[in-house]
Amino acid sequence: MTWVKVDDGFRHHPKAIRIGPLGRDLFVCGLGYCAENLTDGFIPDDMVPHLAPGQSHPTKIVARLLLAGLWTREEEGGYHVHDYLAYNPSREQVLQDRQYQALKRDMYADGALLKVIRARDQDRCRYCGALVNWRDRRGPRSATYDHIVPAGGNAADNLVVACRGCNAAKRDRTPEQAGMVLHAPGWYQVGSSSDLDRIQNESSPRPGPTRPDPIDSKTETPFVPSNGPRPDIPAKLLERVPALDTWPSPDALMALWNDIAARDGLLRVRSASAGRRDKATKYLRQFPDLSFWLGAFSRIKASALLRGETKNPGHESFRADFDWLLTKGKDGTENIVKVHDGKYDDRETR
Ligand SMILES: [Zn+2]
Repeated sequence: MTWVKVDDGFRHHPKAIRIGPLGRDLFVCGLGYCAENLTDGFIPDDMVPHLAPGQSHPTKIVARLLLAGLWTREEEGGYHVHDYLAYNPSREQVLQDRQYQALKRDMYADGALLKVIRARDQDRCRYCGALVNWRDRRGPRSATYDHIVPAGGNAADNLVVACRGCNAAKRDRTPEQAGMVLHAPGWYQVGSSSDLDRIQNESSPRPGPTRPDPIDSKTETPFVPSNGPRPDIPAKLLERVPALDTWPSPDALMALWNDIAARDGLLRVRSASAGRRDKATKYLRQFPDLSFWLGAFSRIKASALLRGETKNPGHESFRADFDWLLTKGKDGTENIVKVHDGKYDDRETR
């Protein structure tokens, strides 16, 4: 079963009034026919007499629909519902969605497969490393399975554990298309050198010369990123933001912010002051993972409040910027964490 959309103002639209009750009946039945048969809005001539059961002269009513511009005449012998695809999914979209739903059903039916994936990923999101919650069905940390390549099928190497936040941000794209980093299983708990070797082999990071210590080496506790010696940065992203080569460093973080700010119309950072660098260093120690920042920065455009478009009293002049993200809110939680978790997303968006 598929659904079809009708404008909620249809019944009092001048066109709908002009075509009368029989016209409206034929029009709505025609929509149903198109959706049921996935015709992308086309109704062949020989279907017209059967569209609306009980109508004795539907071919006469067709003239009213044509006159009102609700249907148009097609050369190949039939009619086209005006703007059908502007409101309803195309045949291709419906078939794709059905295929995806079937894939999901098969996946959930295969308990052995899911067990393998959960054991391998140890219930951690392979994109941000968060421990996911299988009992929660809605929150940003609730557990999902992600198809790495959306059309790639249910093979274990195409399925990973993902938190809902990351899965929603990725949508039906590959990690590369979504600008997200898929980490090797267990990447978040690097400890021994054998772990490092394993992760280096598994995630095949970009080869390159050894880097200088990414963060000021004069600090008392030298910073070692917990996600391995060098995160696997998508080549496309690196091309756009070359400073990411030094990730995690304050410069890389500010460059990443400026890139996304330029794209999403946010306030860019103009000077890398000592204060900002200190703060960035502190935050990077706490959140060394690039996909965490990518996810959070990209999320700002999903929130009218963060974009500075809400007119709530007291919030008029507020607009999220780099410095605000790197501070704690009144509740003691870092603003960047709240943004990452989707706390400020508009309700209409996912
Ligand atoms: Zn995640």
